[in-house]
Amino acid sequence: MALFSAWVARLLPLLPRRLVWAVGRRYIAGTELEDALRSAEQFAARGIWSTLDVLGEFVTEWSHAQRYAEQAEAVLRAIAQRQLPAYLSVKLTALGIDIEPERSYGLLRYLVDQARQRGLFVRIDMENSPYTDITLAFYRRLRQEGYDNVGIVIQAYLRRSRDDVESLLPLRPAIRLCKGIYIEPPEIAYRSRDEVRRNYKELLEMLLRSGVHTAIATHDEELLRFAEEALRRYDVPKERYEFQMLLGVRPERRELLRQQGHPVRVYIPFGHHWYGYSLRRLRENPNIVAHILRALFRLDRQQ
Ligand SMILES: Cc1cc2nc3c(=O)[nH]c(=O)nc-3n(C[C@H](O)[C@H](O)[C@H](O)COP(=O)(O)OP(=O)(O)OC[C@H]3O[C@@H](n4cnc5c(N)ncnc54)[C@H](O)[C@@H]3O)c2cc1C
Repeated sequence: MALFSAWVARLLPLLPRRLVWAVGRRYIAGTELEDALRSAEQFAARGIWSTLDVLGEFVTEWSHAQRYAEQAEAVLRAIAQRQLPAYLSVKLTALGIDIEPERSYGLLRYLVDQARQRGLFVRIDMENSPYTDITLAFYRRLRQEGYDNVGIVIQAYLRRSRDDVESLLPLRPAIRLCKGIYIEPPEIAYRSRDEVRRNYKELLEMLLRSGVHTAIATHDEELLRFAEEALRRYDVPKERYEFQMLLGVRPERRELLRQQGHPVRVYIPFGHHWYGYSLRRLRENPNIVAHILRALFRLDRQQ
């Protein structure tokens, strides 16, 4: 079955967009900001914080980067107006890094500045490996300019991550630790599940020991249990960590963490550019075949 799922995952780009939307819908709040805000409000009522993410990446026209920045700014305004326990995540390829890096930094800086004026936080998502260096460089530059309302992401599948964490620690960074979602070559990335897990555990230990704010972003049961045990072992106070999960993934486990009293945040993507994000999520879904069959059945009945 696992092999069959892997085969189906490879065929995903061939599926009609309508089907991808039907199956990937659970991972996305909707196409509009209002959809994301409604979702964040519902989570807030249950004691869960949010990260709002305007879907979009790899833009090739400057006007699209500007449009993305405007939408991201609207998110900041709405979070502040509604006093939501939420922050913003952004992707540099959506802010035009491939078009004009310096202008892209300008947009990022503007958003972080707007967030600071409202007492909010911005996380720079980590994309595929061609962008690792520049993402870290932009993060350092913001910190040098005095912005401390900004955080970074470290991917446990990258072999370089240990060195990156070591060199970032003097800045007392706020780090989200995830496995990493992109397909990377074996020279730079661990490929096996065990290796990625081992590195995740080592990096998590480094972060918790050093006392920086750590966002534990995983749904992997083995890693969640390891994290719970490590948090107890290092007696980490609640202000220093949070668990983070993606909308639509393991909601029952998210709820359990909350009931146990852990700080929990859910990542809520929204927007019209849902296709690339949905494909990545579907590839990671172990029950992808069943979901596609169910969606096909639903679409068939709607026709
Ligand atoms: C809050 C947050 C932010 C992230 N930010 C980034 C980032 O900036 N850059 C980046 O490269 N990656 C990011 N990721 C993605 C991350 O790198 C992984 O790809 C993703 O979280 C799956 O890895 P996992 O640790 O959950 O382990 P997995 O082994 O993939 O999953 C563990 C279990 O979770 C369940 N599960 C996982 N995914 C799905 C799914 N799509 N549908 C249904 N069930 C599923 C399954 O039960 C699976 O067995 C982020 C993840 C989270 C939670």
